[in-house]
Amino acid sequence: MRRFLIVGGGASGVITAIAIARTDSDAVITIAEPRAQLGEGLAYSTRETVHRLNVPSDKMSAIAELPEDFQEWWGVDGYTFQPRAIYSSYLRERLELYAEDRYTHIQAKVSELLPGAKARAHFDNGHVADFDFVVLAMGHGTAKVPDFLQNTPPNPRIVLDVWSGSELPEAQTLICFGTGLTFIDIALSHLARSPANRVIGLSGSGHLPEQHTRNRITPFAPALADVETLEKLRAYLAGAGEHWREAVDGLRPVTAMMWRAFTEAEKEEFLKSDGSIWSRRRHRIAPDVAAHVETEIESGRLEVRSVRVAGVHANDHDVKVLLDSGEEITGDVLAICIGRTSQADDSLSRFLIDNQLTNTGPLGLGLSVDLANGRLKDARGIDYPNVFAIGPLRSGEAFETTAIPEIRKQAAEIALELRTSR
Ligand SMILES: Cc1cc2nc3c(=O)[nH]c(=O)nc-3n(C[C@H](O)[C@H](O)[C@H](O)COP(=O)(O)OP(=O)(O)OC[C@H]3O[C@@H](n4cnc5c(N)ncnc54)[C@H](O)[C@@H]3O)c2cc1C
Repeated sequence: MRRFLIVGGGASGVITAIAIARTDSDAVITIAEPRAQLGEGLAYSTRETVHRLNVPSDKMSAIAELPEDFQEWWGVDGYTFQPRAIYSSYLRERLELYAEDRYTHIQAKVSELLPGAKARAHFDNGHVADFDFVVLAMGHGTAKVPDFLQNTPPNPRIVLDVWSGSELPEAQTLICFGTGLTFIDIALSHLARSPANRVIGLSGSGHLPEQHTRNRITPFAPALADVETLEKLRAYLAGAGEHWREAVDGLRPVTAMMWRAFTEAEKEEFLKSDGSIWSRRRHRIAPDVAAHVETEIESGRLEVRSVRVAGVHANDHDVKVLLDSGEEITGDVLAICIGRTSQADDSLSRFLIDNQLTNTGPLGLGLSVDLANGRLKDARGIDYPNVFAIGPLRSGEAFETTAIPEIRKQAAEIALELRTSR
């Protein structure tokens, strides 16, 4: 029997458990996850049907070796964009199928982890246990807070984390700061609640995410040599012209190698100057979601503006957003929709870093992970033999590490490493 601990039962943790259970019949798996339902995490806990997957069904399989598994499970065509709410049921069914009675869900957090030949885990319910192998899957950082709110006193009308699981306060006019993927979700759910509701989306660029085409495209197939420096990457993308989708999607097989080839200065420059347009083009919304957004804009219920925000005042009655131009925008609630930090700022990562058991990854993002095998590195930069990390925790080392196609590949690689480290 080999005892595994997976810390975090969001998509990454469950996909890893499935990969291990499929390849190791001796595996006995404990998943630590404070949420009641496995597989939900940040992205897949929504119950709202307007929240849709932004990756086509034929790329959402949890199992790298069975790429059509998700579309077959749900009985849909590959090039469709299904509701996000169904995805955690899929993950739980696959976990049941492959791990059956070989996994346990402990509904608690791991508060301390002491690596060693047996890694010792302390849970926040008082339980302590030793494991042969550990996979860290604590996921995304905390919600980002814009600078203009740093000195604003907390107020129930200002919602800093729209994915906290709590309903937004009662509102007719909802102001959102940020106009990316999170904004699309929050705006469409608010508009669906009442015909009287309206949404004002504010951001520096005023750009919405790009959309997938109605029909499947054929990605380009660039070689690493075409994109191995930032200058070459920019030339490759600029040269694609109106075929930017083919260029962006075509990078997927070489992205990890490209990121490794970039210097630290190039990575920093890319994230600062190109990151926003990249994520708008890389993480696109479904075509019918884009059409829905367009209809709401035409009807006047949804407004999107490019602005500079100077400050915010909230009281018992309303919230006012003050712009650099002197204009004031009034609404009932302000929701911050600018995503999560890529810092490993969850409590267990903090414990590991503060106790010099590991370091942050490059640029201070994520944790220090050996991408060649998925192992966490200790504070001296040496791989732990039996501790791994997956998903957003790799965001300093890897460039694209949060979507299901990347996560399932990482999970398969970890399972392979574990099989060969018998
Ligand atoms: C809104 C949204 C929509 C997305 N849509 C798509 C999509 O359509 N297609 C796609 O491919 N990707 C999508 N993604 C990206 C991707 O699938 C997710 O980022 C993915 O859910 C990452 O999963 P995770 O388990 O690593 O992290 P999380 O979802 O953050 O889960 C981490 C889990 O770990 C738990 N945890 C944290 N600390 C501890 C601890 N100390 N002990 C125990 N448990 C702990 C938390 O409770 C949490 O449940 C989306 C992401 C978001 C945010």
